Amino acid sequence: MAKIYFVDVTNRDGVQTARLGLSKLEKTMLNMYLDEMGIFQSEFGFPTTKHESTYMQANLELVRMGVLRKIRLGGWIRATVNDVELAFELVPDIKHLSLSISTSDQMIYGKFAGSKTRDDILASMVDAIEAARAHGAESICVNAEDASRTDVDFLIKFALQGKEHGADRFRYCDTLGYDNPFTIYETVKILGENVNMPLEMHCHGDLGMAEANSLAGAKGAIDSGQDVYINTTVNGIGERAGNADLVTVILAVTKSRGFADKYKLGQPIDLTQSWKIAKFASYAFGVPIPVNQPGVGANAFAHASGIHADGVLKDPQNYELYNYDELGRGEPELVETGSKICSGEYSGIAGFKHIMGKMEVTFADAEEARRLLELVRYANVEAQKPLVEDELLFIAKYPQIAKEILTLKPLE
Ligand SMILES: [Zn+2]
Repeated sequence: MAKIYFVDVTNRDGVQTARLGLSKLEKTMLNMYLDEMGIFQSEFGFPTTKHESTYMQANLELVRMGVLRKIRLGGWIRATVNDVELAFELVPDIKHLSLSISTSDQMIYGKFAGSKTRDDILASMVDAIEAARAHGAESICVNAEDASRTDVDFLIKFALQGKEHGADRFRYCDTLGYDNPFTIYETVKILGENVNMPLEMHCHGDLGMAEANSLAGAKGAIDSGQDVYINTTVNGIGERAGNADLVTVILAVTKSRGFADKYKLGQPIDLTQSWKIAKFASYAFGVPIPVNQPGVGANAFAHASGIHADGVLKDPQNYELYNYDELGRGEPELVETGSKICSGEYSGIAGFKHIMGKMEVTFADAEEARRLLELVRYANVEAQKPLVEDELLFIAKYPQIAKEILTLKPLE
């Protein structure tokens, strides 16, 4: 039986959202949390964008060190030979790539404005795959941008040619959130039956169906005998109305009526990491978690009305589908209400030692403390907000990697 995997794209689609972004250290922390959670792959950035290079190389080093234990780190580029060449020039150790190109007539005529035909699209994709293979790419996913507005015969042709030239997976991008669960199920099932390769679901929420479409698309893939890789972002942060939310889709796959009886995860996912990763992403993006967000919203387990409260007190299962502790919730939150010392780009050594001492971090000597403080200051320059404990601990534990992550060299 085919299985379900997750490819989180917060560090790629999430950060390309208008008015939102993450520092390189915040992106690194997300890779760490996604790894702890058991997510198959993090689409961790743009290898052709110069300011991503040191961050990407440093995170690939974390994989080699075994700090990132199982997660794959994949880069996203356009399906052109130029992008492939530049990606391997800037991030020579990149091993996993998504190669993306528009496939719909709307985009071919509306965006490329007559400069490209369908055959050009196919040729660009095939050449890009061959170039990536020649550079030693270990896995390649070909992405059909705007797949939901592309006719299915062309999608089949696109995926088959990709497969023939060495692509491992095909990403079905509902770029505009145009599908509904019925259409995506049908289309993906036809694709799976005709292309016979693993499929990725990439869904957006413009019509409020990103998670439902992810589930229906996954069903279509598995019913056609293909493994499926669902694209998500933490808290659903993504362009316009956002992407499919990571925690919501995991809940839907594992808790919705009868689904998990037939459609299984390819690897165990530690749902208890949900609360931590959702809170971190909310803080890092500066976007509050909606009170009604599944699982991690403030009201997800709150009951006020008489009948519901009475029912939950007797047995939570009366009005709750799953328990709060399954998501890692339940710890009391300790909020400092007296004097508080935060990290900042102008922090001094006394305040820094105080913060680290609270986390029981000690320094070998004054020089080590000074060097770590310097790294923390640079991290604050990028984040423009106090670092969280896990970020400070990361810097203390992996100062060389932190230094690399924080290194930006414009116009060099
Ligand atoms: Zn997208």
